[in-house]
Amino acid sequence: MNYHQYYPLDVVNGPGTRATLFVAGCIHQCRGCYNQSTWDPRSGHLFDKQMEDQIINDLTDTRIRRRGLSLSGGDPMFPGNLAAIKQLLLRIKAEAPGKDVWLWTGYRLDELNDEQQQLLPLIDVLVDGKFEQGLADPMLTFRGSSNQVIHYLHQAPE
Ligand code: SF4
Repeated sequence: MNYHQYYPLDVVNGPGTRATLFVAGCIHQCRGCYNQSTWDPRSGHLFDKQMEDQIINDLTDTRIRRRGLSLSGGDPMFPGNLAAIKQLLLRIKAEAPGKDVWLWTGYRLDELNDEQQQLLPLIDVLVDGKFEQGLADPMLTFRGSSNQVIHYLHQAPE
């Protein structure tokens, strides 16, 4: 998996103070996408063990407490990303317990295949669906267009 940006401290992408990772790779081609440079899975930088360690270190940092990790892109559910995302999520469960994970994907929850669904037990909140330019609304929180749904899988709604 490749990634484009990692923000170790972020108060914009998700609730509270968080870390945020924007991965490469997306097949959805939404009209009006703000992140077209992330579509190519070969773009960006290799997501290696060093980056994985940095995320775990940031999530367990006791000086600046983060509530959790936001995963966006690109699409973390892009087929070529699933193995690396699963490995990261398993490490978070084991090494940073109690931190919440929000994941944004262009797939709808009911479109996820078996392999993609395997990530769901490891995610607290899934924000799903393509960005629909005609349904875009800047007043929406944590999503760009009104067709997208915030699924509170393992967390009480905000
Ligand atoms: S799912 Fe996200 S990254 Fe992919 S094309 Fe749509 S808006 Fe862009």
